[in-house]
Amino acid sequence: MKDQNCAYCMQGDLVAKFAYPVCQMKTGYLYLFKEQSKRGRVILAYKDHVSEMIDISDEDRNAFFAEVAQVARAVHKVFNPAKVNYGAYGDTGCHLHMHIVPKYKDGDEWGGTFQMNPDKVYLTDEEYEAMAEQIRRAL
Ligand SMILES: [Zn+2]
Repeated sequence: MKDQNCAYCMQGDLVAKFAYPVCQMKTGYLYLFKEQSKRGRVILAYKDHVSEMIDISDEDRNAFFAEVAQVARAVHKVFNPAKVNYGAYGDTGCHLHMHIVPKYKDGDEWGGTFQMNPDKVYLTDEEYEAMAEQIRRAL
């Protein structure tokens, strides 16, 4: 079921406001987060419009988290962060998704909680595409 007001359901222009498509995965869709103060930050959005990780079966949740790990592995490989942070918020957009956020020791917000959108660093579509392609190859 899709929610007409949900960016992750509708994709296209709605999601393009804050994310750049990387690829479809088995349990959802992978995006680069356009705000790139944490280089390599991505979002894995679940395939269905569910609010909570407790709203899906154990099997589906395990499959989703296996892909979160697969994405994190690719992010480590391509961007070599000191740590990857994970966040599943969605207070205002109730569609299960995981922020996968590389952190760097000399980088933005190291040692603290990452902001939802620090609104500091944006790239060109060509740069997003180059990053997305690196991630696709590493998955
Ligand atoms: Zn949705």
